[in-house]
Amino acid sequence: MIRTKIIATIGPASDSLEALGQLLDAGVDVFRLNFSHGTLQQHAIVYDRIRSVCRQRGVPAAVMADLCGPKIRVDPVEDDLFEIVAGDHIDIVAGHVVGDARRISTNRPELVGEVPVDHRVLIDDGQVRLRVVEVAPDRLRCLCEVGGLISTRKGVNLPDSRLAMSALTEKDREDLAWAVEHGVDYIAMSFVRTASDLRELRERLPLSEDRCRVVAKIETTQAIAHLDEIIESADVVLVARGDLGVEMDLARVPLLQKDIARRCRLAGKPVIIATQMLQSMVDCPTATRAEVSDVANAIFDAADAVMLSAETSVGKYPVEAVRMLTRIAEQTEQYLDRSAPATALDRNAILPRVPTAVAHGANLLARDLEARLVAVWTQTGNTARLLSKCRLPMPVLGLCPEEHVCRRMAMFYGVEPVQLERDDEVLAMLRDVDALLLDRGLAARGDMIVVIAGTRLHQVGSTNALLIHLVGDAPSGGPEITG
Ligand code: PGA
Ligand code: MN
Repeated sequence: MIRTKIIATIGPASDSLEALGQLLDAGVDVFRLNFSHGTLQQHAIVYDRIRSVCRQRGVPAAVMADLCGPKIRVDPVEDDLFEIVAGDHIDIVAGHVVGDARRISTNRPELVGEVPVDHRVLIDDGQVRLRVVEVAPDRLRCLCEVGGLISTRKGVNLPDSRLAMSALTEKDREDLAWAVEHGVDYIAMSFVRTASDLRELRERLPLSEDRCRVVAKIETTQAIAHLDEIIESADVVLVARGDLGVEMDLARVPLLQKDIARRCRLAGKPVIIATQMLQSMVDCPTATRAEVSDVANAIFDAADAVMLSAETSVGKYPVEAVRMLTRIAEQTEQYLDRSAPATALDRNAILPRVPTAVAHGANLLARDLEARLVAVWTQTGNTARLLSKCRLPMPVLGLCPEEHVCRRMAMFYGVEPVQLERDDEVLAMLRDVDALLLDRGLAARGDMIVVIAGTRLHQVGSTNALLIHLVGDAPSGGPEITG
């Protein structure tokens, strides 16, 4: 069992019941639905299939809905494609035209008027680079600095500009409403710029239920400038290296990845590393040396999860790609277990005090006692999340009676979620844990384990008890806790 969590994007290569089952068996923990493609009807079919294969196998995998966000795209161009060479001039006009080598328009005509002289306009993941040289009310005149092909619907990035647009488009709002209604576990927000973008999304989540958690995709220049506030406001952070590598100098991406991962550890938030992890496996049954190193390096950086995009959505070898991630994680985690010292949680102001201290204590105890595993009862998954950040060398069982909380915990490094009813009497609760461990072969009679619980049942934030327990050693009817 590896501790690093695997996220697979679902698409035509993987959306059949059979393929989803194979991905789950190969070790996928979180299924990503990408709302940049497909209709709500198609997503609904895939969503039902995911839930049904998980139910069939009794595995609580999570579903992440990734909203496409305000991605700017080139409007249709004549014959779908033209070439531009360095030194050429081209206009980006307000309104919509069929583009050609002299002028193009985008799905966001308002950007004429928002982008000043000297700002860069990057097309097709930065393949074509333009710079604004003259601004008129109805057009931006641009000079081509790096030439290439411009084709219909290619993406446009404006790394220097501040656009006065909402991070949630009309389409995102509809997709979000769909995701909430269907009970997805995570909603990922694209092109987040500041914490207030995340607040705008949260305002649209139902107050009464704590069903879905918010993932902030870091992929804009502005997000890098507001990292700490974004990490504090998000539940999970995703390093979206695709757009990030276009908006920022590509050569900075490895350092940004390390910096974001480090800040997430301090803030106790899970971090996902994404994009082109095993890109060559879209076409080949095996990965390159560089890709394998990149995945191992992400795990060294303390990624909680690694994500596959095209590899599983449209690639020829989705299952092989997941297996490759698993093999790399096995090797890398074994090394980390042998070499990494106990990482203390940074008990700073933004972490909840008592659960953080309990997780910290359990971390030290479990290592000192070489415990077989740590079992943590959690109402919201939060204590399990904090414990996950301690990078324990033994399994952590996240126990909760609620299925949606178990699915949520599928995202947390090293945490194996188990749905289990909680008895309010301590010895009875321990007997239930023992029965589970013995039944699943997770521990043997006499093994020492550490159990974390709250003594005030059903109360969120009540985690306050740490027990050292020998499996099979909970007499019935004894006193609750003896000194
Ligand atoms: P995307 O996000 O696949 O939705 O663009 C990931 C990235 O930009 O890396
Ligand atoms: Mn992106």
